[in-house]
Amino acid sequence: MPRYQAPLADIRFVLEDLLRVEQLATLPGYEDATPDLIFPVIAEGARLCEEVLFPLNQSGDAEGCRLEKGRVFTPAGFPAAYRAYIEGGWTRLACAPEDGGMGLPELVYFVMEEMVSSANLAFGIYPGLSRGVYNAVRRHGEESLKRRVLPRLADGSWAGTMCLTEPQAGTDLGLVRTRAEPDGAGGYRITGTKIFISAGDHDLTENILHLVLARLPDAPGGSHGISLFLVPKIQVRDDQGTLGTANAVSCGGLEHKMGIRGSSTCVLNFDGAAGWLVGQPHKGLPAMFTMMNAARLAVGLQGLGLAEVAYQHALAYARDRLQGRALKGARYPNRPADPLIVHPDIRRMLLTMKAYNEGGRALAYWIGLHLDHEARHPDLRTRQAAGELVALLIPVLKALLTDLGFEVANLALQIHGGHGYIQDNGIEQYVRDARITQVYEGTNGIQALDLVGRKLPQATGRLLRHFCHPLAAELEELGRDGADPVLAALAAPLAKAFGRFQQATVTIAIRGLADPDEAAAAASDYLRLFGLVALGALWLRMARVAQEKLAAGATNPLYRGKLDTARFFMAKLLPQTGALFAAIQAGAAVVMDPEDERF
Ligand SMILES: Cc1cc2nc3c(=O)[nH]c(=O)nc-3n(C[C@H](O)[C@H](O)[C@H](O)COP(=O)(O)OP(=O)(O)OC[C@H]3O[C@@H](n4cnc5c(N)ncnc54)[C@H](O)[C@@H]3O)c2cc1C
Repeated sequence: MPRYQAPLADIRFVLEDLLRVEQLATLPGYEDATPDLIFPVIAEGARLCEEVLFPLNQSGDAEGCRLEKGRVFTPAGFPAAYRAYIEGGWTRLACAPEDGGMGLPELVYFVMEEMVSSANLAFGIYPGLSRGVYNAVRRHGEESLKRRVLPRLADGSWAGTMCLTEPQAGTDLGLVRTRAEPDGAGGYRITGTKIFISAGDHDLTENILHLVLARLPDAPGGSHGISLFLVPKIQVRDDQGTLGTANAVSCGGLEHKMGIRGSSTCVLNFDGAAGWLVGQPHKGLPAMFTMMNAARLAVGLQGLGLAEVAYQHALAYARDRLQGRALKGARYPNRPADPLIVHPDIRRMLLTMKAYNEGGRALAYWIGLHLDHEARHPDLRTRQAAGELVALLIPVLKALLTDLGFEVANLALQIHGGHGYIQDNGIEQYVRDARITQVYEGTNGIQALDLVGRKLPQATGRLLRHFCHPLAAELEELGRDGADPVLAALAAPLAKAFGRFQQATVTIAIRGLADPDEAAAAASDYLRLFGLVALGALWLRMARVAQEKLAAGATNPLYRGKLDTARFFMAKLLPQTGALFAAIQAGAAVVMDPEDERF
């Protein structure tokens, strides 16, 4: 049977040993966020995920959501689990104290996001979107609007959604047609149809706040003419947030989909619905990006969470299932056959999953720490540098961890053989659930274009330097005579891959200036190359910490495991960078030359 146990030992290793999480409490506003507070909070979150959310994962998938007389109902158990979620204060975790939040660091929220996604991704989408709306209104909303809605989003009694997509406007939001007309009393009336809206309607909260992209009457065409509105499902009467009558928003249908079936995906019709403007007129997309950037990081964590739970299933199965004998003779002669885990190909798959998951966790939490530095560090330059590094890595984290989440879920299914393909065993759900993470919040192809088209050239390449300079210094140090031989052996292949990455960056920059197709045709290969180098950097740092701990007499087997997995990553996974480099160098002509009719 499927099982999930939050990987608390590895989470602690990353937070405590690698990232030195105690530094968070030195940041203004985070004084209480000491390890003594953070780790019990995480342990309590793990308990909720294991005992409350995970048991509803398979049943929620089987039952799905239903639409009855215009109202959406989530699967059995979801409303009670949501009550437990808000009573535990989990919606308040990283919200500001003035809104009734706990004001804990983003990094702690990252850990919770990963665990919730492992336990029940479909459930996690509901509070996840509310958190995005909270951030966007907090950053861009007027004071009176903030007073009305933020405490309700923080305490979880109201939820949120993000309404961008329309039938003709997916990736290209410049095609949005939904209209907004001033109502003459300071508000707006919103009219149009949005599709694919996650958590668009449900029975978990008394109200839902939709963040909607729409056009004002005088709006210029394209993406520069889009404004952002907050449209409540039930109208809000006053500053205290008392509820009035139903707004003119209705759920016109529920999508039947491949995965995340416990999450409602709605067609939403706005028929002159009352709404508030958020931010400046015609500046809706930049404001929405506050939400989308956070959401992209969250979707990366969804990929990681699914990869983790899939790995746990596969590992348990590989220890349990008896098939064949080890090639060099029986390892468990008292049993009718050896367990799968003795076979080299199974070990290759397990180590691939472990290397991607633990590397991905280190990368994600490292970015989470930089988010906290961006928000709270007293030094302006440190704040700016942290913000630029995060901006650079958002598309990498989103695309890399969701692609790997799908690959890892597939490997987990493969380890289960035919049993993985059978619904009752629960593994195929992870493959289905993981697939959407590569698509929503901007497809992974669009993430790659964002990386090469916007993030690399920004500030004449300064964003990339925040990543490259420290890594170059580390690699140089470990390449010198007298360096620790274990670490030097890990650093050598990474130095080679890093060289390829730097050369690929120059290629794309130079060729892309002359011909934008050159950058675009190489973008996905480049993002994966970057992602593998970033995982390599984190693996080197983890190996370094483990080596220091072992040298100081530590006996925790986790440290040996880190060195084993780092060795596997550098030897078996990092060499993919060679093929990616060659594909990047091949240029755009091989992609663009064939006439459309020749496909
Ligand atoms: C389950 C689910 C939940 C969702 N939740 C939400 C939600 O809550 N709110 C919301 O607003 N939307 C939501 N979406 C919509 C989702 O974000 C879009 O489906 C996604 O952004 C892609 O848009 P599209 O489907 O129209 O594909 P298209 O934009 O038609 O793209 C099709 C393909 O072409 C590629 N492509 C498009 N343009 C370019 C280009 N310029 N260059 C290169 N390649 C390009 C894309 O990468 C993709 O591979 C959800 C979708 C699903 C399925």
